Amino acid sequence: MDKIRIKDLEVYCNHGVYKEENVLGQKFLVSATLYTDTRMAGITDNLNKSIDYGKICHSITEFLKENTYQLIETAAEQLAKYLLLSVKNLDKLTLEIKKPWAPIGLPVNTVSVEITRQWHTAYIALGSNLGDKEEYLNHAIESLDQQEDCEVVKSSDLIVTEPYGMVEQDEFLNGCLELRTLLYPMELLKLLHKLEKEAQRQRTIHWGPRTLDLDIIFYDDLILNTEKLTIPHSDMHNRDFVLKPLAQIAGGKRHPVSGKTVQEMLQELV
Ligand code: ADP
Ligand code: MG
Repeated sequence: MDKIRIKDLEVYCNHGVYKEENVLGQKFLVSATLYTDTRMAGITDNLNKSIDYGKICHSITEFLKENTYQLIETAAEQLAKYLLLSVKNLDKLTLEIKKPWAPIGLPVNTVSVEITRQWHTAYIALGSNLGDKEEYLNHAIESLDQQEDCEVVKSSDLIVTEPYGMVEQDEFLNGCLELRTLLYPMELLKLLHKLEKEAQRQRTIHWGPRTLDLDIIFYDDLILNTEKLTIPHSDMHNRDFVLKPLAQIAGGKRHPVSGKTVQEMLQELV
């Protein structure tokens, strides 16, 4: 991806762990690499097709003057989030904040923190087989979209499916959605659990009736195996109630381990 770079923008502001730093302030140097596609701007010579680095420099300066943090880690984290949320066409950025006058009582050129943050694409499977199923699913979709660091990009139709595993229960309503998010995988899982909890889901019988089930199917092309979280979802290729709606919005998406597309996995099931 193309990059626009800002190097050592000087900002005088008040971040620091010590009181004196918060009161007197000091010089900070901010560098940023903005990942964006400059092709259209390059062809048309039109600033509206690119990111205005002058405006970004002013935004960085204002943000760091208006908000005061103890840590430059926090300053960088919050500034990255602010820029990713507010700047159009910005997919990813690297931010470095240097403190040339850090009060450590030793001669040092600068100390700094550098972070890289970006928008991620996750696919979420939704299911419900208790109560007002459609209402539970639609409410979950809306709630996800309303999170400031999440955006529902696409959602499938909601389809009626037969229960999986344990059969003596009501039929399910299932769907899938594509989410653009700044959340890390475990943070996303926590959010999904919170939404499930709000829908009064009781974790009693495994595969039993539930008001709302939200699973992470894919997260970019991440492969993750921890006790609490497996991505891609370990059973997705066996579940037509996941693959059918997912095929509507991401038929060509490939499983990062098997290399098969969603469409291929669905065809192998039926
Ligand atoms: P299921 O979704 O398989 O019917 P649950 O919703 O009760 O079952 O999930 C049980 C646990 O599975 C969750 O507490 C979570 O920690 C774990 N889990 C592992 N991988 C995933 C994933 N990709 N998406 C959602 N939950 C997951
Ligand atoms: Mg689940």
